[in-house]
Amino acid sequence: MLFTPEILPDLIKAVTDVIETNAEEVTVLDQVCGDGDHITNLQRGLAAVAAQSTELAALEWSPALQKLGMTLLSTMGGASGSLFGTLFIMMSKRIVSGNGLDRQVFTEAFYQGVDAVKKRGRSDAGEKTMLDVLIPVANYMQENVQGSVDINDFLQNIEQVAIQGMESTKNMKATKGRASYLGDKTKGHIDAGARTSQLIICSVTHQLQVKIS
Ligand code: ADP
Ligand code: MG
Repeated sequence: MLFTPEILPDLIKAVTDVIETNAEEVTVLDQVCGDGDHITNLQRGLAAVAAQSTELAALEWSPALQKLGMTLLSTMGGASGSLFGTLFIMMSKRIVSGNGLDRQVFTEAFYQGVDAVKKRGRSDAGEKTMLDVLIPVANYMQENVQGSVDINDFLQNIEQVAIQGMESTKNMKATKGRASYLGDKTKGHIDAGARTSQLIICSVTHQLQVKIS
């Protein structure tokens, strides 16, 4: 199954909608552990990306993801802007050329993108950040991409791994980013960036399942 960048407008719309629906909840999370601006940062970035939807859909994958990442980087602000921007820009570098993206190439690109986020954030799993969702998802994909897992099961399992990762941040103590200033007080609250990363991943995998069916 090959996906072309023509799916990008639908994916961007789905992500924008899910972020809008969950905006209040995420704002509270970032107010408790941070400064409360995570959703507005993300919405600013998504609005800029949505305005480029048609243009992105006409590009090949590599330049489309590069452009998307650059737009997030230049419009979002906050720690999350540079981290989400880095994710897409590094993904674009792994995809050599062409319009078709299969499970294998996407997995390798995502793995590389997440690795770049780790380096950029000087952060790793267990520090109560978006990486507690991104790393387990990248690992699951890498470990299962060559197996015989049916594509629908593969996508559904990604959703489960993302949800578990998001929930795992609840009892962690933040050691990176703004939340680290609060130390133990962050325990008992899910990390805002982990929640939005999970929402984004689940809305994309859901859309892909709709496209396949
Ligand atoms: P800021 O913290 O600058 O206000 P945002 O509120 O937009 O930026 O994003 C905060 C989110 O970014 C956190 O919830 C966390 O998931 C993520 N984050 C912050 N710092 C790091 C880091 N060093 N590594 C990985 N993720 C981080
Ligand atoms: Mg913030």
